[in-house]
Amino acid sequence: MTELSDFSAARSATIRDAMATINASGMQMLLLVDDEGRFLRTVTDGDLRRLLLSGAEMGDTLEMLPPLSSVTAPDDTSRKAALALMDRHEINHLPLIDGEGRIVRVLNRRDIGTPILLSTPHMGEAELHFVEEAFRTNWIAPLGPNVDAFEREVADLVGVGHAAALSSGTAAIHLAVRMLGVKPGDKVFCSTLTFSASANPIVYEGGEPVFIDSEPGSWNMSPVALERAFDAAKAEGWIPRAVIVVNLYGQSADMDALVEICDRHDVPIIEDAAESLGARYKGKPSGIFGRMGIYSFNGNKIITTSGGGMLVSDDEDLITQARFLATQARDPAPHYQHSQIGFNYRMSNILAGVGRGQLQVLGDRVESRRGVFEAYRDGLGDIAGLEWMPEPDWSYSTRWLSTLTIDPAVAGVSVTQVIARLAEEMIEARPVWKPMHQQPVFAGCRHFAHGNEAVSDRIFETGLCMPSGSNMTPAEIERIIGVMRGLLKDR
Ligand SMILES: *Cc1c(COP(=O)(O)O)cnc(C)c1O
Repeated sequence: MTELSDFSAARSATIRDAMATINASGMQMLLLVDDEGRFLRTVTDGDLRRLLLSGAEMGDTLEMLPPLSSVTAPDDTSRKAALALMDRHEINHLPLIDGEGRIVRVLNRRDIGTPILLSTPHMGEAELHFVEEAFRTNWIAPLGPNVDAFEREVADLVGVGHAAALSSGTAAIHLAVRMLGVKPGDKVFCSTLTFSASANPIVYEGGEPVFIDSEPGSWNMSPVALERAFDAAKAEGWIPRAVIVVNLYGQSADMDALVEICDRHDVPIIEDAAESLGARYKGKPSGIFGRMGIYSFNGNKIITTSGGGMLVSDDEDLITQARFLATQARDPAPHYQHSQIGFNYRMSNILAGVGRGQLQVLGDRVESRRGVFEAYRDGLGDIAGLEWMPEPDWSYSTRWLSTLTIDPAVAGVSVTQVIARLAEEMIEARPVWKPMHQQPVFAGCRHFAHGNEAVSDRIFETGLCMPSGSNMTPAEIERIIGVMRGLLKDR
C-alpha cells in the first residue's frame, strides 16, 4: 500500500521534488499539505507542466501554485457517495479529511470502483481446455462427448447410477415432476423456504403446490410439518403425487426422517439439491436420497456452466426418459414423429465442457466457501443478536451462501438496515428467500407450519445472506466485517 507520506509534499518542496514524488508513487498526483499536515490542494502532473510553461524553473518551490479548492470528503464518506463525487468532478482520487483538516486516506477509483457481489462465477484452469477441445473437434451442436463425460463424472462424484445434463436446474425439476405423473389438480408437497424455481414446475404441469415449513435446526423441510401435511391429506382423502425437498444454502435437509415419512406413504421424493452440490448428509453426497435429484449450474451456484442443470437417479429408465423428453420427444422413427409433447432442455457440448472443468475444482470451492463462513463467524462472533445458520451433526454444508439471522431487539438494527449500509459500501447482501407461502403468486396455496408459527417466516424476517463467493479475497472479507462491526458495535 502507498503511504500518505509517499505522495505528500510541503509548499517548500521544489517542482523537481514534486515531479519525482509523483513519478515514484504511481498516484499521478500529490497532496500539498501545510506545516501542521493540513490538506491544501491536490497537485497533478498537469499543474506542474503549466507552472513550467508559464516560466517557472525546476528549482522553484510549490509556493508558486495558485490556491485551488480541491474536492475532498469527510472521512466517514461511503464508497458509493465517494464514487458519485468522483464521477461528478471527473477525478480519480478523493482525499478524505478529518475534523482537523488532515488527510486520513485517499480513495482511488481503481480500488473502490468494484463492488463485492453475493456469489460470482469462479473459473478454474481446465474449463477452457474442454471448451477448446469442443471447438477443435467441431462438437458445437448440443450434445457430444463433453455432455456424456460430464454426466458420467457427476454421477460418479455423487455415487448415483445415472445423470442427464440439462439446460437448467428448473428444467430438471420440471422433467422430474412430469415423469412422476403430476396432472392438473394433483397436489405436490414442496419446501416453502426456497427459490420459486423449486415450486414453479408443479404449476407448469397444472399441479398445486402445498408448502411445508422449515425446522429451526437446519432451516430445511420440517419432518414434523411434513407429517402434519400427510395427516391432513389422509383425513381429507387425498395423497400428494410427490414431495420436493430443498437443500438450502448448501445444506442437506434431514433426509432420513423425510424419506422415512414419504416411504411410509409411498410418495416419491424429488431432491432439489440445486444449492447443495458438494454437501454431505451423514457422510453421503447431497442430492441422491430421493427418487430423483437435481443440481443447478446457474451462474451464482457453487460451480457453474453459466447456465445448466443435472437430473440424477439410480433408475436408468427415468434418466433415459428424461433425455428423450429433453430432446423434443422424438420417437425412434426415420422421419420426425412424436407421440408425446417434448422440450428443448438439453445442455450444449460447449457448456458441458465448462462444467467438466468446474467439477475438478468443486472440492476447493466448497472449502473456500466454508472458509468465508468461518471468517465471518470469527470476525463477528462476539456481536450480540447474530445467529449463524446452524449446521447439525449430520450435515457437512458447502455454505454456498453464508447466512445468519439478526435479532433487531438485541442487535439494534434490522436486516434491511444492514443491507442498506452494506450497499452504501458497494457490498451486495440479500434477505433470505421469501417463503413461497408468502408469495403473491402462490396466495391460494396451503401451508403446513412446524409449530404454532412458521419457522420460515421468522427466518425470512431476520435472515441475511452475506457475500459468499469462493473468489473473495481476505481483504474483501475483512472490509465487509469492518463495515458490519461499524454498524453493529456499541448497540
Ligand atoms: C437455483 C435454484 C434452482 C433453479 O436452478 P436454475 O439452474 O437456475 O434453473 C432451483 N432450486 C433452487 C433451490 C435454486 O437455488
